[in-house]
Amino acid sequence: MPEYPLLDLATQRPEPGHYVYRLFDAAGLLLYVGSTGNVWERFGQHAGRLRHEWWGDVDWPRAVIEVITFTACAGKKCLLPWHAMMLQREVELIQSLEPRHNKNSTNRCKSGRHQMTPANIYVQPEGGRTCKECRTQRWAALPKEKRQQYAKASEPSRAAWLEAHPEDRARRQAHKQTPEIKARAAEVQREYRNRPEVRERLNAQQRERRQRPAVQAKLREYAQKPEVRARKQEYRQRPEVNDRINEKQRERYAQRKGI
Ligand SMILES: [Zn+2]
Ligand SMILES: [Zn+2]
Repeated sequence: MPEYPLLDLATQRPEPGHYVYRLFDAAGLLLYVGSTGNVWERFGQHAGRLRHEWWGDVDWPRAVIEVITFTACAGKKCLLPWHAMMLQREVELIQSLEPRHNKNSTNRCKSGRHQMTPANIYVQPEGGRTCKECRTQRWAALPKEKRQQYAKASEPSRAAWLEAHPEDRARRQAHKQTPEIKARAAEVQREYRNRPEVRERLNAQQRERRQRPAVQAKLREYAQKPEVRARKQEYRQRPEVNDRINEKQRERYAQRKGI
């Protein structure tokens, strides 16, 4: 684990740069680990927009702010090597110190199936972090033709050519928008999705996603919406549906009696 010099908030102004910070409460409990290119702005977000209920507990003299570099950050799209170092350091600290209030980069990946060790973290070109094992699994599950298609699109020579010919990109995009081409693409898409093995994989993905706590919370919230509840109610009251529900209930009752 590399160590970085510290910023002293009492005497130094945190100019834009790359930082990883640790916030503690008065008892020394680690509340939160974060990274930022702008310390003041980020702290303002914690206090304002994010309004964490623990923010008032932060004991400022205890805060530890590591300086990865004083070179300014370009935000999420930042490609500087220090940016990757900053994210790496943040994840290392979250995993080794287990701060009380971090929700991301805790020990498991989004799917909940893998340990997010530094070795298992893939830093995307645009700065995001994902699970390497999940990526590998997704890749392996793709049909061969899709894999070839992706591999071809990411060939360096091809990517460079596309970069150098923006007008060609615009032309191809306009071409894709013509009705016949759109209809043809939709047809190909439908055909692809209807293949049993593809359909099976997409359904499995969907099922897995629905198991995630964050998604379940969203689904619950959705089910509580008045218009959704009204639709459900309406559906349940249709005679044929109502009959089926009653039938099921009778079955369950009979089963319970039987046991
Ligand atoms: Zn950066
Ligand atoms: Zn994973």
